[in-house]
Amino acid sequence: MTIFGSRQHERLRVEGEKLKRRILHLERFAAEPGARIALLYRLADNFGRRMFPHSLCSQRIGRYSGCVTGGCCQCRPDVFEYEKQILDLLPKRIDKSGYCPFFNPVKRTCGVYGVRPFACRIFYNSGASIHSCQNPSDETLQLFDGLKRHVEQVLGSYQGGYNPGEA
Ligand code: SF4
Ligand code: SF4
Repeated sequence: MTIFGSRQHERLRVEGEKLKRRILHLERFAAEPGARIALLYRLADNFGRRMFPHSLCSQRIGRYSGCVTGGCCQCRPDVFEYEKQILDLLPKRIDKSGYCPFFNPVKRTCGVYGVRPFACRIFYNSGASIHSCQNPSDETLQLFDGLKRHVEQVLGSYQGGYNPGEA
């Protein structure tokens, strides 16, 4: 499903290329692996802020980040090796709700917002409807696919959707 207009599509292409180039050159700016990961996450967050300032996702309720509908968290988030190792260490819900094990069902927000995976950081609702929350646009999927092998250089191999305890 494509929901981007041609101008927005071109902007996403240009910003996506910029993000890719910055990820490719991370080593120049951060020699230590930990610093590289922190910078990667900052780049992803900045990308989202620049690209989707008016997204439904940008709403904030009080001190909570995000839209508090949590529609996009009804999933297993895509993770890389390093992220899986970190998430495995954190408390998680085990239930059959279909929500990510780190989704906080009371506050309706991400329970691990500060360390949420790269994929969650670049996922934005690109349409004006909540339907987009669970139906990523082609552009969103292509963006992640195009960045995946570069992100692997920083976060280790891609593991697919997060499953607690599985290698
Ligand atoms: S994608 Fe949808 S559910 Fe997820 S944060 Fe954005 S508006 Fe909320
Ligand atoms: S890690 Fe957080 S943002 Fe990502 S899917 Fe889970 S609850 Fe949502």
